[in-house]
Amino acid sequence: MAKKIVVIGGGYAGLSVAALLAKEGHEVTLLEKNTELGGRARVWKTKGYVFDMGPSWYLMPEVFERYFGLFGKKVSDFYELKPLDPLYRIFFHKKEIVDIPANKEGILKAFASLEKEGDRKLVAYLKQAKYKYDIAMNEFLYKEYKNIFSFLNWKMITQGTQLHVFATLDRFVRKYFHDHRARKILEYAMVFLGNSPKNSPALYSIMSHVDLNLGVWYPMGGMGMLVEAMEKLCRQYGVTIHTGEEVTGFEYTGSRITSVRTHKGSYPAEIVVSSADYAHTERELLDSSHQTYSESYWQSRVMAPSMFIMYLGLGKRLKNLTHHNLYFSLDWDKHFDTIFKTPSWPQDPCFYLSCPSKTDPSVAPEGKENLFLLVPIAPGLMDNDEMRHQYADYALKHVEHVIGESITDAIEVKRIFTVSDYANDYHAFKGTALGMAHTLNQTAVFRPAHHSKRVPNLYYTGHYTHPGVGVPMVLIAAEIVSGLIKEEEK
Ligand SMILES: Cc1cc2nc3c(=O)[nH]c(=O)nc-3n(C[C@H](O)[C@H](O)[C@H](O)COP(=O)(O)OP(=O)(O)OC[C@H]3O[C@@H](n4cnc5c(N)ncnc54)[C@H](O)[C@@H]3O)c2cc1C
Repeated sequence: MAKKIVVIGGGYAGLSVAALLAKEGHEVTLLEKNTELGGRARVWKTKGYVFDMGPSWYLMPEVFERYFGLFGKKVSDFYELKPLDPLYRIFFHKKEIVDIPANKEGILKAFASLEKEGDRKLVAYLKQAKYKYDIAMNEFLYKEYKNIFSFLNWKMITQGTQLHVFATLDRFVRKYFHDHRARKILEYAMVFLGNSPKNSPALYSIMSHVDLNLGVWYPMGGMGMLVEAMEKLCRQYGVTIHTGEEVTGFEYTGSRITSVRTHKGSYPAEIVVSSADYAHTERELLDSSHQTYSESYWQSRVMAPSMFIMYLGLGKRLKNLTHHNLYFSLDWDKHFDTIFKTPSWPQDPCFYLSCPSKTDPSVAPEGKENLFLLVPIAPGLMDNDEMRHQYADYALKHVEHVIGESITDAIEVKRIFTVSDYANDYHAFKGTALGMAHTLNQTAVFRPAHHSKRVPNLYYTGHYTHPGVGVPMVLIAAEIVSGLIKEEEK
């Protein structure tokens, strides 16, 4: 039966669930506080530059195909997907550069150059990563966990030991590789999941299957093409979208929400799906008697890093970069400590540089470069104007030193985006960029629930919920939540 559904938030999670619910015949209204859609994946356009403000790695293409397939569409109906080669470039200590090519032989050769028998070891490592990935895709990523028993089913118990849920990734990788460079290549993606390799379950060696076996892709036009595609689907199925409209609370009858209040008015609702930061919805939008999680729950969560980001338009081309570039400092534990142990601005930080104009001429004026610098930093770190500008100067010098090329002399456009921007623009708890870290206690059934335990007609989706952080994951969450609503609201 068609219901009036209000979706809060217009990032990938809100858009993807809104389109699915509208396809089911519901009357869906989506409310987004910012003036543009996309959430953390908003696009900033200025002076001929097109900056993807958040995600830039398009991974697990099969998830996107599956999502669009639910509407009888293909990815190619919306954008052209390009495989990247090399997948990425890594800068190590003392200006050593390693490129990871897109083909298997090239990857094996790269690992063989890092460590004796590195190629043979990598084959074995990737074999187990693929095994875990297949189980994850078939058994637990697309699944709703109502309780611990639905998680610990027979298959999970029998196959659990091979999934290495209880080992840490860092220890696990050390069983295969001694060389710190090889280990870092197999561990860096933990930052995508908001965690450090020393605190991540070895289950997440899956991520090496994701980048090294499945490849790294790029939607021509940028990640914003995906936002546009989802908006198109929403509009096609009749979703009413209001941007620049912030949700401020709810009206209730008993424990059920009856309408959603915004700073402009109110919307009657039979069902509400929040894709806004979970902590914001719980702590700031719900009355205390309707909250599922206590303040101490939120204070004790391991929050994923925030980010120090610079969007840079450069009036020249850079010689030493490819599309995706990473720098891994020699002692990267020191950097992880500044994020997870003793919050502070990192010195000699690891960083990521995205240069999409290497692949896509539409994101920068001719002869110029579109550059995105990202340094993971601690959530909740104090930032003010002086600090962010000081750190920007430091970070730029550091980057120039590592890549061996000047940047500062060619800057035409510069914007800094960091902790307080995440808090202000997205209501991000402690200014986290990625939501909740994927520690063992915050994985699968242990992530905040899709269905409120206190408000029967309130559902949650997005990166806080299972399966978690990342664009493919929030598309999976949309499918889970629309299925859950179908099941619960018959
Ligand atoms: C810098 C960065 C780089 C990343 N890189 C990658 C990558 O390369 N690959 C990848 O797969 N993933 C990446 N991610 C992760 C990925 O972007 C996120 O997991 C995903 O975009 C989260 O989508 P979401 O819809 O759950 O949240 P959001 O995008 O945050 O959407 C939530 C929306 O709710 C809105 N909102 C909040 N409060 C209210 C309110 N009261 N009323 C109305 N609206 C409200 C917010 O404004 C926001 O638009 C990256 C993230 C960041 C920040």
